[in-house]
Amino acid sequence: MKKNNTALLVIICLLLAGGGAYGQKGTLSEKNIRLVMQAAYNEFKGTSGGANADYIPYLASVNPNLYGIVVCTADGKVLEVGDTKFEFGIESISKVFVLALAMQERGAQAIQDSIGVNATGMPFNSVMAVELEPQRAVNPLVNAGAMATNSFVPGSSSAEKWTKIDNIFAKFAGRRLPVIQPLYASETATNQHNRAIAWLLYSYGRFYDNVDDAVDRYTKACSYGTTTRDLAVMAGTLANGGMNPVTREKVINAALCPKVLATMMMEGLYDNTGSWLYHTGIPGKSGVGGGIIAVAPGKLAIAVFSPPLDKAGNSVKAQKTLEYMINRLKLNLLDSGR
Ligand code: GLN
Repeated sequence: MKKNNTALLVIICLLLAGGGAYGQKGTLSEKNIRLVMQAAYNEFKGTSGGANADYIPYLASVNPNLYGIVVCTADGKVLEVGDTKFEFGIESISKVFVLALAMQERGAQAIQDSIGVNATGMPFNSVMAVELEPQRAVNPLVNAGAMATNSFVPGSSSAEKWTKIDNIFAKFAGRRLPVIQPLYASETATNQHNRAIAWLLYSYGRFYDNVDDAVDRYTKACSYGTTTRDLAVMAGTLANGGMNPVTREKVINAALCPKVLATMMMEGLYDNTGSWLYHTGIPGKSGVGGGIIAVAPGKLAIAVFSPPLDKAGNSVKAQKTLEYMINRLKLNLLDSGR
């Protein structure tokens, strides 16, 4: 009899513990995440508005109706709906992971001193952002700062620096990523504005490598082909303190993740970042290929893909989807939860 009672007590305790976890984490149970993800997909599938980027000709040719959502939890579950296997240009989302590499190699303070970390509040390809900032500091997530950050990756040759980028991207994604060659060619043929920005930084002593080499590596990194799933796992690694939650491989030091995420919080959606943060309260990063990632530290990451963009260069449908999901999953970092 006593034995039975003890067993019962153990069962009740287990149920209570599970129930407790369900109370807070119930919102983040696999079942609820799936429900919210599917509801968002149904809600926004028919959303129109925006247009594919066309200043890089390849991007204009991508099917604008593609739409995928993937969640990667910090404990390694990957949940997906829609066109999640389609490979598209990572574009500016690459800036986050080149920054992570440069930070890992040079240290967080060196990034602040040599590149800058404040918000520019300006379009991603702004020349004025460089001109107006004292010391010509720029955020690593706009084109100027991203090219400077790429130039700041240490290495004895451009090939060695590219190998470092390629290796760390493979670790973040859990697979070696392909460069979409027609996209790379398309970007290289049309990147005169970026080259001008890089030379401007160089003229101010704020560029740290051969300009052509670094701009080429930047352009190539923007041309990586990623699926929505890849982006979710890459962002999930930042949600999980720098360890890829699927492969369990350590990619960057945990202490660097909040620094990377802080730059996303300030500049992840360019001149629309304030509005993004106002509505979501978590760091996000967009790319003109139509992807956006969002990171809820310690919990999960979400990646959404839909090519049509607003004027700032952010996917219209991805922003709506993320705002919907982040609020229903109660991920806003600024919300006390009371
Ligand atoms: N490769 C693009 C560029 O340099 C990336 C811009 C973006 O995604 N916002 O213009």
